Amino acid sequence: MLAAAVFRLSAGTARWVLWSVLFATSGLAAGLGVSFPEWRMFGSSLCRVRTARKVVALTFDDGPDPASTPALLDLLARKAVRATFFCVGRQVASHRDLARRIAAEGHLIGNHSFAHSLGTNLFGDARLRADLELAQQEITRAVGRTPEFYRPPMMLTNPRVFRVTRALSLTVAGCAIRCYDRRGGSTQEVLHRVLRRLRPGVIIALHDGGVPPERLVELAGQLLDKLHAQGYRCLRLDELAACEKTG
Ligand SMILES: [Zn+2]
Repeated sequence: MLAAAVFRLSAGTARWVLWSVLFATSGLAAGLGVSFPEWRMFGSSLCRVRTARKVVALTFDDGPDPASTPALLDLLARKAVRATFFCVGRQVASHRDLARRIAAEGHLIGNHSFAHSLGTNLFGDARLRADLELAQQEITRAVGRTPEFYRPPMMLTNPRVFRVTRALSLTVAGCAIRCYDRRGGSTQEVLHRVLRRLRPGVIIALHDGGVPPERLVELAGQLLDKLHAQGYRCLRLDELAACEKTG
């Protein structure tokens, strides 16, 4: 009798604790954001497309960076590969010529916020919208084309991100494979991380900003060679997105 009462009490307590944890976690997630775009917790981020074709999109975040972006552009030109650059609006404002070179060489430029603030995911609607619009303006002024994709800093999303991007006709771009290329580790370790998750239609996220040019060129060069050896072709994000419709 006593045991049954204790069991009932502890089961009730466990349920209460579970609900409290779930409530606190979802509140925390909505406030701070979720950095796993494939979970689609608050909305749908483009992480991969459904296709049988061996195609992927390489994306580079946080540039344009005068220390490393030119070396990457040289490599991509040598390999005849087109990629997508998620540029920070402030960086574009400081390095317009480099942004122009990215676009002139056939790559796609996406919006990666204006300031790349660590607090972006805590911005209210108005501040977030102002930041994104400023980046749109800077990029459009530099390259004459308005971005259609937005990648949030740190890939953190919350309901506000999807509300604001919808209003600005931007598609939120996540990724299916994160390289964690700035965390250290050898090129081989990063390549291993990428290649074991490689499949048709995935978006792969690397950085051109804040990465030493030698490391960036070595990693991107070896990755391109491995992709090529496995029969994969690299497309821009807009081209990859079109594959979903055409198969
Ligand atoms: Zn970033």
